[in-house]
Amino acid sequence: MTVPAVITAPSERLFTVAEVTAAIDPWRAMLTEAHVRITWLIRENRRLRSAHLLCDMCGAQPCVNPSFCAACRAAEAKPAPPKLRPQPRPTPQTLVEAIMYCVREHGVKALKEPKVKSWLHECDAAAKAQINARIQKLIEAKRIAHD
Ligand SMILES: [Zn+2]
Repeated sequence: MTVPAVITAPSERLFTVAEVTAAIDPWRAMLTEAHVRITWLIRENRRLRSAHLLCDMCGAQPCVNPSFCAACRAAEAKPAPPKLRPQPRPTPQTLVEAIMYCVREHGVKALKEPKVKSWLHECDAAAKAQINARIQKLIEAKRIAHD
């Protein structure tokens, strides 16, 4: 559907230069005053911002979240907790069983084999006591060779 164009009638007269100038001058004055005020506000904003130091936590000026940054500052001021040394782990039972398997298979002389010696070196006192007790039982039961 097409709409026919509407041709308006010419106005009675055109504005004169004086009328246009008189109409524009108040706007020019208002725009100039707005520009001056905005310029002053920008300068005042810069002056006030420069009075604040950068936040040592968030780096903003002024601080973005003062309470959070204060909590962070307090947390960092506390001395660090002492580092915990990892507790030595007990010898895995699988290592004891591996040594005992070699002893059962090859006798007490298996303890002199380099691999078994390195395993024994990894054993803690409890594991060594357990191995000794078990070897002693095997010897007493005459299930392994003593030499
Ligand atoms: Zn901050």
